Order: sequence, then C-alpha cells, then structure tokens
Amino acid sequence: MGDVEGLKAQLEELKVEALTAFGHAQNVADLEDLRVNYLGKKGALTLILKGVGKLSAEDRPMIGQHVNAVKDALSDALDRVGSALSKLAQQQRIEAERIDVTMPARRRIAGVIHPVQQGLNEMTAIFAHMGFDISEGPEIEDEFHNFDALNIPESHPARAMHDTFFIDALADAPMLLRTHTSPVQIRTMKKFLESGQEPPLSVVAPGRVYRCDYDVTHSPMFHQVEVFSVDRGLSLAHLKGVLQHFLTTYFEKDLPIRLRPHYFPFTEPSAEVDIGCVFCAGQGCRICKGSGWIEVLGSGMVHPNVLKAVGIDAQAFSGFAFGLGVERLVMLKHGIPDLRLFFENDVRFLRRMGA
Ligand SMILES: [Zn+2]
Repeated sequence: MGDVEGLKAQLEELKVEALTAFGHAQNVADLEDLRVNYLGKKGALTLILKGVGKLSAEDRPMIGQHVNAVKDALSDALDRVGSALSKLAQQQRIEAERIDVTMPARRRIAGVIHPVQQGLNEMTAIFAHMGFDISEGPEIEDEFHNFDALNIPESHPARAMHDTFFIDALADAPMLLRTHTSPVQIRTMKKFLESGQEPPLSVVAPGRVYRCDYDVTHSPMFHQVEVFSVDRGLSLAHLKGVLQHFLTTYFEKDLPIRLRPHYFPFTEPSAEVDIGCVFCAGQGCRICKGSGWIEVLGSGMVHPNVLKAVGIDAQAFSGFAFGLGVERLVMLKHGIPDLRLFFENDVRFLRRMGA
C-alpha cells in the first residue's frame, strides 16, 4: 500500500513541477525540450511508470488511471502553452519586419543611354523612317575600301589629310582603322549588286571612326552616320530634300539650310551643308562667328568613279551621299561646348545629357 501512496505523491509532485516549468518556457524550442524531459521515452513520467510493474495486480489499474490523468494534464498544458508561444513568436516576427514608410527612400541609380549613342539612335531612326536600310561595316578596313574605291588614290593629298591610324603601315597591304564610314558605301553597294539586285538602294550606316586628332572639337575616336542613295535620275534636289527633312526633324525646329560648294574626292559636285545658327536664329553670335550659319556636314553627288569602282553604270545611275559627325550634331542640339565631355565619363554630365 505504501508503494501506491508513494507513487501517487511522486506523480502529483511531478505534475506540479512540470506545469510550473511549462509556464516558464520562453519559446517553442524550450517547451519541446521540456516535453522530452517529462513525457519522452526516457522522461520523468516514464521512469515512474517503471515502478508500476512492481505493484500488485489490483493496484496497477488505479495507478494506471492516475498516470494517464497526469499525462493528459501535461499534454493539455503543452498544447495551450505551445500555441500561445507560437502566437507570440509570430507577433515578434511581424514587429521585426515592419516597414517604416516615413523613412527616406534609398536612392536607386538607374543607368542612362550615353548621349552619343542616344544621338546615333535618333539620327538612324529618322533615316530608317524615310525608308533607308541600316547597314554596318568593319572598323578595321583595308586601303581599297577606305581610300581607293572612294576615289582617293595613293597620291591624293586628301589621303594624307585623313590622319590615319595604320595597324601595320609597313605591310604590303596595310590595314587601318577606318577614317570615315564611307567604306560602308562601297561594301554595301558591292554586296547589293553581287546578290543580283539593281538600284534603287538607300542606306544609312552609323558607326565609329578613327583619326589621329585630339582637341576641343576632335577626338581620336568619334561617330559618323553615312547616308547614301543610288537610283536613276537622282539630283542635288533629292539630296537637299533629304537633308532638309533630316535636319529639321533632328533639331526639332524649322531651320534654313544652305549648300556651299566644296571639294570632296568621293562626290562631284560636293557641298558643305550649313544650318541657320541654332543659338541666335541667324542673327549672328559668338558660336556662328557672326555669320548666322553653322556648318554641319559634307555632302554631294556620288562621284562616277565611286560608282564605277563597285560596278554600277554611272551613265544610267546617279547617287547622293553625305556623312555627318554625330558628336558635332549632338553638341549643337544640346549646346555642349567641349567634345571631350562625351568621353571623360563624368557621371554628372552623362546623367544630365543621357536618356
Ligand atoms: Zn549664331
């Protein structure tokens, strides 16, 4: 009988001790440890159960009932405390993840398109809208495409004036960094004819070019857009019409233009193209040196020798062509004083000018 009473007392003590411990658990993990300590396979309650085996047959059921009651009480308490603790943990998590909408935002620095690339895109798009095909050529060229086929023979003074970067000047057939985008004219026309087609052919060729030159308005690497068209009966009037449309569209204003006779080896006749000064509207200012006009590009009718070099019948077909400096037009449009700003990569400048 004494054993029975002793076990009962042990069970009661255990229950109180366990419930107290559950009440002090700080979190779900603590509570799980306590569950193992009291109700686990090697837990305190299990140890007490081992004592039950020594009892007489009639005492066992009574103690068994008692053990189950304690077990139920502890299980209930574990559930209750457990759900309270997980609710608390969730609240703490929400509190920790709360966003303070009154805090100043972190600045996100978005990239911009470089102003030169932006200009190149705008210019190319204007010609593409007029129906010109976009074409590109290699930046490393041979003398034939860069000079000979463009009516600039070896002895020609213009060849020396181009300040060419040769890659291996002493080689039999030296390669060079193209000094203009005009070689794309030659390559595109040849390819076009080789595919069995006949003009009309209208092409815009944007790209990088290289000359050994560096100051406020010159950079050893700069960008050109080459534009040409070949068809039957093309004249200076077509050239002027395309120029007028392009320049007024690019500068987004009605600009007077004028063609001033000039000389280029690859066009005949040739003309420098001026626009009415965008800064003083033709009144005369420091930038246009009081003339009211600003030179923007070189143009002309494709020289018959150039047509012949690619195998086009210069009697039946004529063409016009012009090449413009992208940096120069972007500088004029946005009033940028120094070409070197484009390549110094000062992010303040690029962010202000870029798109
Ligand atoms: Zn002016």
